[in-house]
Amino acid sequence: MPQNLWNDADARKLPDLEGLVYRSNMLGRDRSVVNIYGGNTSAKLKMTDHVGRTVEVLAVKASGSDVLTIVEKGFALLRLDEIKPLFQRKAMTDEEMTAYLERTAFEPGRPRQSIETLLHAFVPHPHVDHTHPDALISIMCTQDAEAQARAIYGERMAYVPYIRPGFALSKWIGGKVRENPNIECVVMGKHGLVTWGPDSLSVRSRVIPARCLIPAGVTSLE
Ligand code: ZN
Repeated sequence: MPQNLWNDADARKLPDLEGLVYRSNMLGRDRSVVNIYGGNTSAKLKMTDHVGRTVEVLAVKASGSDVLTIVEKGFALLRLDEIKPLFQRKAMTDEEMTAYLERTAFEPGRPRQSIETLLHAFVPHPHVDHTHPDALISIMCTQDAEAQARAIYGERMAYVPYIRPGFALSKWIGGKVRENPNIECVVMGKHGLVTWGPDSLSVRSRVIPARCLIPAGVTSLE
């Protein structure tokens, strides 16, 4: 059963980007919640650019980094105002997406963003976690995954069937969250979970939703 490793006293001392690092490291300490190099975390932050302007920045885990060991420099920083209009597009290839996002860099020298970056950008909440919990994936690989997810989460979730990560999946997820303002998570068939919150302190209560992952009456998933 996943353990909640969060320490409020530690987390409260940390400013936004450091808080995101802390949250990410906590998730990575339990490999049954996030596999090595898997999953990604983000925060939408206000930062001051080189001209002195305050801009909204999406800090998102870079491709090739692991949430357990990630540090501040392991996050890509992207100008969110330049990314938001992409939600209106019908389609983008991976190559188009990568080329576009490279042009939104907030500062030079940062690593390349995750392929799941638009998922984070399109979910209209300040802090977003995308995890691959073993317990959830084991249920989401069953034939009636959507019904199983509904039995566990009820009206608290939206479900998206499996498609490979990219623009279409990101748009599906962003669309579900916008259409259903009362849901608390998006369950991804054969893939994982998306959760969010107004700050790291509140999103953490949803990042390891053990009670939600295990159906009532089930004590073992072996
Ligand atoms: Zn994923």
